[in-house]
Amino acid sequence: MADPTDWFTEGLEHIWLPYAQMQTLPAPVAVTRTQGSRFYLADGRELVDGVGSWWTSVHGYNRAELIEAARAQMGRLPHVMLGGLAHEPAYRLASRLADITPGDLTRTFFTESGSVAVEVAMKIAIQYFRNLRGEMRTRFVSFLGGYHGDTLATMSVCDPDEGMHHMFRGALADQHVVALPESREQIRALETLLSTDRKIAAVLIEPLIQGAGGMRMHSPQVLRTLRRLCDQAGVLLIFDEIFTGFGRTGEMFAAGRAGVTPDIMCLGKAITGGITPLAATIASAKVYDAFHSGNPEHALMHGPTYTGHAIACAVANAGLDLFADGSLLKRVKALEARLTEALAPARALETVADVRILGAVAAVDMAEPFPLEAARKWFIERGTFIRPLGRTVYLTPSYMIGEEDLGRLTSAVLTFARAGFAEAG
Ligand SMILES: *Cc1c(COP(=O)(O)O)cnc(C)c1O
Repeated sequence: MADPTDWFTEGLEHIWLPYAQMQTLPAPVAVTRTQGSRFYLADGRELVDGVGSWWTSVHGYNRAELIEAARAQMGRLPHVMLGGLAHEPAYRLASRLADITPGDLTRTFFTESGSVAVEVAMKIAIQYFRNLRGEMRTRFVSFLGGYHGDTLATMSVCDPDEGMHHMFRGALADQHVVALPESREQIRALETLLSTDRKIAAVLIEPLIQGAGGMRMHSPQVLRTLRRLCDQAGVLLIFDEIFTGFGRTGEMFAAGRAGVTPDIMCLGKAITGGITPLAATIASAKVYDAFHSGNPEHALMHGPTYTGHAIACAVANAGLDLFADGSLLKRVKALEARLTEALAPARALETVADVRILGAVAAVDMAEPFPLEAARKWFIERGTFIRPLGRTVYLTPSYMIGEEDLGRLTSAVLTFARAGFAEAG
């Protein structure tokens, strides 16, 4: 019989991995099985997962209800295209999303990745003004520290100095990436920008937490300010809740937590609990109506092959069932309390610059930089999978994580903050 890890050594010669210098990349950890909050490795070790596979795995891995939903759908109708045909999972999911999203966000367009969901939101915003009054508004306002995806349009609204997007600068649309409106001066600057550049179609923000930018958090007041400024200037407000959606902040959506309804909302990541790809762009009735007055030229010009994929939508519906009785959100609140308590000692450390906790997100900013790859290895050696972003060590565990596994994660973070970053460095 072949060595169970042959696929790994052979495949490593052929796979092209994300954000990786393949020449110097430390070998990834081969996972052969998942369960709950744990990875089971080819070499027999177990790791507690602190990341949730890019923040998707909120119900834990191998959650029976989600797997059963995928299996049942696969047996009955794996997928039929939404052009000219209809199937229950996508239509039912659209209705349910309309019920649970705030205000009059009632129309869902399905895609397969968060980046494309944001692209669709941007296209809707541009076409909205064109349909409404033949106006070409093609620019966007977004925020420093923000992340909205890796495709060409979404890179243009990301923080220009983070990640590796600067090397594409000449190929990207020129947007206004500005400071969050927190101080009086910043609010005034944004107000002036929105009233002077009449090419602006929308303001785009990750509400309450900028995830990939280092789990940076802002007050709900920022979102209320944005709503007011956008209404005043007549531009659309887009919430990218691809990270914050589905309970991450302790409420179903950050918009609900802040009491602010955007004109368009993007969802992804946790929508299927990480089992299948799926993302959604949800528009308000006002936005939708500008596309559907009867003029065929006003239709939204977008249509991915796999829009509303039946298996993905069936899994998302099963995920919504898991949220239905409110107990999951209570778990997130309990998790917030546990994370706050367990990481409190980090606040007193000289090595630590800041500790932030909101819902099922904990972030510890180290005062000094440290080598990322060495830190990642340090965590793996302690039975945890934790991947710092810049100087920020963060946890985004499954909402279902048990006490023991959570304890292993928080004590690894504390030990790292006390001494580990020096050992790793
Ligand atoms: C992950 C993420 C995206 C991009 O989603 P993909 O599925 O990776 O394309 C966009 N916006 C936010 C806030 C994200 O966290």
